[in-house]
Amino acid sequence: MATTYDAIIIGTGQAGPALAVRLAGAGMKVAIIERKRFGGTCVNTGCIPTKTLVASARAAHVARRAAEYGVTIDSAITVDMKKVKERKDAVVRNSTQGVEKWLKSTKNVTVYEGHGRFENAHRLRVGDEVLEAERIFINVGGRASTPPLRGLDQVRYFNNSSMMEVDFLPKHLIVVGGSYVGLEFAQMYRRFGSEVTVVEMGPRLIQREDQDVSDAIRTILENEGIHIRLNAECIAMENRSDQVAINVDCSSGDKTVVGSHLLLSVGRVPNTEDLGLEKAGIAVDQRGFIQVDDQLRTNVPGIYALGDCNGRGAFTHTSYNDYEIVAANLLAGDPRRVSDRITAYALYIDPPLGRAGMTEAEVRKSGRKALLGKRPMARVGRAVEKGETQGFMKVLIDAETKMILGASLLGIECDEVIHSILDVMYAKAPYTVIQRAMHIHPTVTELIPTMLGDLTPLE
Ligand SMILES: Cc1cc2nc3c(=O)[nH]c(=O)nc-3n(C[C@H](O)[C@H](O)[C@H](O)COP(=O)(O)OP(=O)(O)OC[C@H]3O[C@@H](n4cnc5c(N)ncnc54)[C@H](O)[C@@H]3O)c2cc1C
Repeated sequence: MATTYDAIIIGTGQAGPALAVRLAGAGMKVAIIERKRFGGTCVNTGCIPTKTLVASARAAHVARRAAEYGVTIDSAITVDMKKVKERKDAVVRNSTQGVEKWLKSTKNVTVYEGHGRFENAHRLRVGDEVLEAERIFINVGGRASTPPLRGLDQVRYFNNSSMMEVDFLPKHLIVVGGSYVGLEFAQMYRRFGSEVTVVEMGPRLIQREDQDVSDAIRTILENEGIHIRLNAECIAMENRSDQVAINVDCSSGDKTVVGSHLLLSVGRVPNTEDLGLEKAGIAVDQRGFIQVDDQLRTNVPGIYALGDCNGRGAFTHTSYNDYEIVAANLLAGDPRRVSDRITAYALYIDPPLGRAGMTEAEVRKSGRKALLGKRPMARVGRAVEKGETQGFMKVLIDAETKMILGASLLGIECDEVIHSILDVMYAKAPYTVIQRAMHIHPTVTELIPTMLGDLTPLE
């Protein structure tokens, strides 16, 4: 016998729980299914634990730099990795338990713990239970991808999930993958005290960003003693007694890097292959992402896909925004769309990169006339006062409409500062609005109007 609901949600990632509570509040009878840990990737193995670890790493880094600020610390700076992990675990526990309690205590919401699988378009099985609903919302997220690298099956390696169990200091951590996740781990472990080598297949780090951003990030990491090996086109692994050796076959330098531990950080894949999507007739693309329209509807009426599994975003805020879009359309008659949102994200190395809209490369490719504003952080008073002058701020303006096209802000507090630009972009106001705004002194943000007052044509 199937239990019938008004709505079923698969996964308690960044969209599912909020949607469950909202639908239940609107009087619907809702089921939500979770096979692992409440809160999904962000809460358990993604944003929250990594940013908690980044904070510990920063504390160690600042302590080591104390003398620069005239502060004397008489003993050597050491990091207690067990305590670092305990702190991270406490923050994660609080969040995951919060999500679980929230769902389990919400009227009209029934929580099922187990793996959900479609039996047909409106019927799901979770263990021995069979559930049915006209509306089904898929929020199953993704996981670290494991590409078929030569020798990988012979060596021990970590991914972002297993890395969360580390409570010791790796002597030499090799990070394969020089993009967002890999670089955050690389810098934090260097600051904890490990030797760190980043191995990247491409010619530069974090290749989705502009060349000047990639170069500046490389400098920041190399200044801290992180080894960077680019153009590692022929990555292969093997054990060397109790160590791991990575053949990097780079055009310069040693062909092999030998380290104590390996972290694989080479992208994410959606959790869609064991959902029974074929039984429901739900279309996926070649990489397994569920295909959705601008309002997150799949090709099957009544079924929606939200978050990382739809390939329309790869962030907590894009997943949560998916929830807002679906809820607005279903419950408020407000036709919000995915295409309404502006690209925005941060890279949480220290100092962080805050991004909004187009990159300079994208602007150039679009062929439009544009203006460029750029300012090194060394010319930002607040950064100088804080002794944090690495990086730069860059903004691109449409020369005809005066609209802000995009910004890359790499520097202290720039994960926050970027919002002053992002909000003006959402307001669809010309850059002159922010250029004339009076900002508070001394802040990093106060230099945004100054930068906008000194634009040059993008050659
Ligand atoms: C190391 C790391 C750091 C990150 N840092 C950031 C950051 O700083 N900022 C940011 O915005 N994003 C960050 N992200 C990305 C962010 O974590 C994800 O974009 C976000 O969690 C997406 O959430 P989601 O809603 O798609 O699903 P997820 O959070 O992945 O949750 C999906 C849930 O569905 C469950 N599930 C899957 N299949 C089934 C099934 N068949 N039955 C039942 N349950 C199922 C899973 O167990 C999981 O709990 C980071 C990711 C990683 C890996």
